Amino acid sequence: MAFQLPELGYAYDALEPNIDAKTMEIHHTKHHQAYTNNLNNAIAETDLNGKSIEEILTNLDMKNGAVRNNGGGFYNHNLFWSVINPANKGHLSSELKDAIEAEFGSKEAFIEAFSKAAATQFGSGWAWLCVHKGGKVEVCSTPNQDNPLMPGVTCGGIPILGLDVWEHAYYLNYQNRRPDYITAFFNLINWNEVERRYAAAK
Ligand code: MN
Repeated sequence: MAFQLPELGYAYDALEPNIDAKTMEIHHTKHHQAYTNNLNNAIAETDLNGKSIEEILTNLDMKNGAVRNNGGGFYNHNLFWSVINPANKGHLSSELKDAIEAEFGSKEAFIEAFSKAAATQFGSGWAWLCVHKGGKVEVCSTPNQDNPLMPGVTCGGIPILGLDVWEHAYYLNYQNRRPDYITAFFNLINWNEVERRYAAAK
C-alpha cells in the first residue's frame, strides 16, 4: 500500500496572513507530493514496502539517501500540516505546559529556545520539540529532511511540534526574513494537536 499525500483539512488561504495561500499550495501539491512519490518509488520492491513511516524512519539505514530524504520529507510535512491546523487550536495547557516549564522555565523561554533553533539552522532544515519517554521535552534542529526519529540525529525522542525552515516554506512572502516567518508560526500553532501528540508519545 503506497503512502498517500494527506489532505490538509483546511484551505490554502486559511493561514493568511501568517503563511500565504500560494506558498501553501505549492508546498503541499508540489513539494510534499514529490516527497511522497519519491518515497513510494524508493521503497517499492524492497522489504520496507508495507511498513509504517515511523517504523521505516526509526530503523533507517542513514546511508539510504532516497529513503532518508523522502521518507523524512513525507513524515515531516504530515506533522507540520497537523500542528498548524487552524481549526480548534486551543492553547497550551495541562501536562505539556508543566513539561515545558520544567525544561525551559516558562512558555516564553520555550518560544525563545525554539525560535533560536529555527533561526540558526544553517540552510535547509527543521526545528523540533521532542518528547522523551517519561515526558521530558527537548528542542533541537536538524538539517534537510532529517528528523528526531532517525538513528543518530542530534536529538532523540518523538517530535510533537515541527517547523519547516526550508526557503520553500516562506520565501514567496518573507524572502530572506526567516525570523519574521518564525514569529508568525507561533500565531498558528494548534496546541490541541501538540498536546494530543505529547500524551501519545510520553
Ligand atoms: Mn517543506
